Amino acid sequence: MTKLRLAIVGAGPAGIYAADILLKAERQFDVSIDLFEQLPAPYGLVRYGVAPDHPRIKGIVNALRDVLDSGDIRFFGNVLFGRDLTLADLKNHYHAVVFSTGAIRDADLDIPGIDALGSYGAADFVSWFDGHPDFPREWPLDAESVAVIGNGNVALDVSRMLAKHAEDLLPTEIPDNVFAGLSESRVTDVHVFGRRGPAQVKFTPLELRELGELRDVDMVVYDEDFDYDEASKVAIASNKQVMVIDRVLQAWRKRPSVNNAGGEASRRLHLHFWANPVEVKKDADGRVMSFVYERTRPDGEGGVEGTGEMREVAIQAMYRAVGYFGSPLADVPFDKRHGVIPNQEGQVLHKDSNERVPGVYATGWIKRGPVGLIGHTKSDAMETVRHIINDQASWWQPEDDSEGAIPALLAERDVKWTDLDGWHLLDQHEIALGAPHERARIKVVDRDEMVRVSRGE
Ligand SMILES: Cc1cc2nc3c(=O)[nH]c(=O)nc-3n(C[C@H](O)[C@H](O)[C@H](O)COP(=O)(O)OP(=O)(O)OC[C@H]3O[C@@H](n4cnc5c(N)ncnc54)[C@H](O)[C@@H]3O)c2cc1C
Repeated sequence: MTKLRLAIVGAGPAGIYAADILLKAERQFDVSIDLFEQLPAPYGLVRYGVAPDHPRIKGIVNALRDVLDSGDIRFFGNVLFGRDLTLADLKNHYHAVVFSTGAIRDADLDIPGIDALGSYGAADFVSWFDGHPDFPREWPLDAESVAVIGNGNVALDVSRMLAKHAEDLLPTEIPDNVFAGLSESRVTDVHVFGRRGPAQVKFTPLELRELGELRDVDMVVYDEDFDYDEASKVAIASNKQVMVIDRVLQAWRKRPSVNNAGGEASRRLHLHFWANPVEVKKDADGRVMSFVYERTRPDGEGGVEGTGEMREVAIQAMYRAVGYFGSPLADVPFDKRHGVIPNQEGQVLHKDSNERVPGVYATGWIKRGPVGLIGHTKSDAMETVRHIINDQASWWQPEDDSEGAIPALLAERDVKWTDLDGWHLLDQHEIALGAPHERARIKVVDRDEMVRVSRGE
């Protein structure tokens, strides 16, 4: 029976689901899969994106671990495609490759002053609080008033992590340096700004409701934002999700807060709608001083238009949570405008000619852009895998598809890769670090230490 030797690059949910679906699929050939990951640990944004105080979602790693432990996949962690392995290497040793490299950096927000000191991308902050080894260990949290730009779940994650008291995060897996950093935070007010109205937000009801449950944090909403137009009223009446969001917000309007001379919490989380970002003003030292926005209103066609009314809020730090963006990979076509690998249902295409690149596939956020939940990467992977199975005639013809070739090549290049047993060692080590403190785990952040523990050195 023919055997497909498949390389998958990126061990986030998309890559792992693709492996699982292929292994379980009805097919006329055997499969052996090598999964490459630039980090010493698997799971991508489930480990390094999902907020630490969302243990239920973090729990998805249990299902992903079952796939890795099934015995049919080899894991090569701490291997960066483009540096440690090239496309030519993969062609020499595999019949095809799936890229599932996701997205880790922030999309741009092109307004004056965005480069001010104290203006951050949400993705960088997320990587810090989730202990990503390639990001700085220290995070400045000296601002009292902070703006968060965006109306999606990442904006809510960032706002919640900023507003929450550090002690309330202790039972989670946050790394020690993150707990220490958040404990020193001077924040009193977090202002979240969205361009559209409460009936057009992108966040989900569960994430929104959670904000109202934070200890010692008052929710502040503004009556002027709830003068609904016809389209908003229709959205609330016809969409259950929007209806629940509206109900949550309406309940907060009635709560005691600074708006009605009530509210006693030491921190406040303000939600501002109909606010289009215009400028970040800097002080003489180039630091964030205030955020200027233009009040918007519905344009009658489902969008918004500016009203010309400018407003300014004094802040000392700003986080833009306006989306993630994929990064290009060496020798692989890339669509710079959308930050994805150009593809048709996961079959990678040459950028200019739109012709297929044989043997090369994509799945997950790098395939369809950084939107959607973990569950969506599964359906995505199904589509890609279906093509791999049907494309047998156009697979690569590798020179040496033996399983020993890749470890030999990596060893020759002095790459210190981690394997599945190594991940189990690191996993147990982190859980053991947390146990005396009744914490789920304490994440190891330093890359060298992750590698050392994984390799039993
Ligand atoms: C802040 C945040 C919070 C989220 N919260 C939730 C939530 O609560 N619930 C939910 O369902 N979804 C959530 N999501 C969405 C979810 O994380 C994504 O849907 C999912 O992770 C996308 O999977 P992926 O495998 O395509 O990408 P990723 O998870 O990004 O995985 C890609 C992997 O590829 C690796 N890689 C990249 N480049 C290379 C290279 N050159 N060589 C080798 N390896 C490479 C990366 O290190 C990474 O491990 C959240 C996303 C973010 C950003």
